[in-house]
Amino acid sequence: EVTVGQLHKKFGSTTVLREIDFTIRDGEFFTLLGPSGCGKSTTLNCIAGLERPTGGRIAVGDTVFVDSAAGTFRTPEERNLGMVFQSYALWPHLSIAANLAVPLKIRKTGKEEQARRITEALDKVGLAHLKDRYPHQLSGGQQQRVALARALVYSPSVLLLDEPLSNLDAKLREQARAWLKRLQTDLGITTVYVTHDQDEALALSDRIAVLSEGDLLQVGSPHEIYERPAAAAVAAFVGRCN
Ligand code: ATP
Ligand code: MG
Repeated sequence: EVTVGQLHKKFGSTTVLREIDFTIRDGEFFTLLGPSGCGKSTTLNCIAGLERPTGGRIAVGDTVFVDSAAGTFRTPEERNLGMVFQSYALWPHLSIAANLAVPLKIRKTGKEEQARRITEALDKVGLAHLKDRYPHQLSGGQQQRVALARALVYSPSVLLLDEPLSNLDAKLREQARAWLKRLQTDLGITTVYVTHDQDEALALSDRIAVLSEGDLLQVGSPHEIYERPAAAAVAAFVGRCN
């Protein structure tokens, strides 16, 4: 369970997140949806520990990641989260296997376990046969899957995905959506997904949180968000105006 309470974020004097509250259930595919600049990535980065909230609290299970009032702050390394960014930047000078080894080396994993985990993670995304290739020898879709394998290789408790399919063309994106959903369901891993694409959010999510200009407007299932939008802005954004 991921709990975000009263999350507040300012950059200088500009408020970009206003008292955001939500709880993500174990194994859930949870999506942060909203237009460009609404604060999706900032929310995800606060969960990851890449940004420090101005106020509020974030916890996974009993583990408090950040609590502004108590002065608690865990570094990203201490949070055991898997993250894939919009630009999935694999290290170009490292083979696929070596790319996956990096987070394991940081965690001081032994050589044998490294090899085992790398094979296992690449198997999950169906690319074990490409482990000795270099990133430029892979298609965009394959690189994307390697980035996901790299995020899974150390068995994170939660997966954070920031527009991971946005670099793919429309057709690949459709395919990637399907296998991403299947993989997430198979692994049962709690996933926080960021997108500005309504169709993608409706197709993938167990629940969706709709953000607008730093405010959380509604949290609900795709059905609820679509059929019973809580605000005009939600209706406008998910493509239904009534
Ligand atoms: P997009 O869909 O374009 O990725 P987003 O919803 O992810 O948008 P954020 O990246 O969270 O939006 O940005 C929210 C607001 O905070 C924006 O107005 C952005 O300019 C601002 N912002 C983000 N990061 C910083 C930063 N490091 N310093 C100052 N302002 C920032
Ligand atoms: Mg963003």
